[in-house]
Amino acid sequence: MISIIIPCYNEEESIPLFYEEINKTIKEMKKVPFELIFVNDGSKDRTLEILRELAKKDKKVRYISFSRNFGKEAGILAGLEAAKGDYVAMMDVDLQDPPYLLKEMYESLQDKDLDCVATRSVSRNGYSFFRKLFTKWYYKIINKISKTPIVDGARDFRLMKRKMVDAILSMREYNRFSKGIFSWVGFNTKWITFENTERVAGTTKWNFWKLFAYSMESIVGFSTTPLLISSVIGVLFCIISFIMIIVIIVKTLMFGDPVAGWPSAICIIFFVSGIQLFSIGIIGQYLAKTYLEVKNRPIYIVRETEDDI
Ligand code: UDP
Ligand code: MG
Repeated sequence: MISIIIPCYNEEESIPLFYEEINKTIKEMKKVPFELIFVNDGSKDRTLEILRELAKKDKKVRYISFSRNFGKEAGILAGLEAAKGDYVAMMDVDLQDPPYLLKEMYESLQDKDLDCVATRSVSRNGYSFFRKLFTKWYYKIINKISKTPIVDGARDFRLMKRKMVDAILSMREYNRFSKGIFSWVGFNTKWITFENTERVAGTTKWNFWKLFAYSMESIVGFSTTPLLISSVIGVLFCIISFIMIIVIIVKTLMFGDPVAGWPSAICIIFFVSGIQLFSIGIIGQYLAKTYLEVKNRPIYIVRETEDDI
């Protein structure tokens, strides 16, 4: 069986279109049983009602409804935990992940040496100039400073075998960055590419600041290099100040001590305290993540599932 996980947040317009499209693929692959697990991530529109109706009339439709918005990562985790299939796929409901690819992905996975088929989009149509630029730099930086490779343009759309799903479920961290987790667990992944398309209906749930926060989270989650950077800067400044102290002592002994250099002193004080705050900020980021991890809160809370109807 193939389980498909579909996180939905305010997607009343997209769900019927998605359901229609995915059914075409399911019909084409008639030999394989399917289960569709929709995760309602605290939507404020009619998403839940639509899911209830679908689940009532179609046995293969299941749904998990959260008590509030927990974010897409939590939705993916809930879906993975609920999935019963030998193969598990996850895809967006806005048809930016084309369902017809599933057939090809499933056929590829019949190869014993493969555990996962993942997708990346080669273009970024429909993204703003700013977002394109930011994304490009983000991938450059994170791949420099993290040991876990994060593939540029990788989408969450992928089909995995059960073994890999279980490995992912064994990672219980609170701050979840799926792209990193998928990469971290290893296994043999085949990448296929496709042209990015714009979403069929509704609007994107991401704005610049959300994306920025998400990228910072992934950096803190999968790299400790920023901590190293602040340590290196600290050592560098110690060495510089040491040299400066010696220079000043020698200068004073040789030429006396005329009062001068107040502006330069102030500049140095400002500069150094800036660096100090920057470093404390980096440590703070890691501390904050540790704090949230230690609290051990549930990653999502379920309010309703298809068993409740
Ligand atoms: N999504 C979610 N919870 C959120 C935000 C988004 O479950 O808090 C879902 C959304 O319904 C969609 C998928 O995640 O199925 C991707 O969202 P979107 O299409 O807005 O992102 P984009 O494609 O613009 O990156
Ligand atoms: Mg989308």
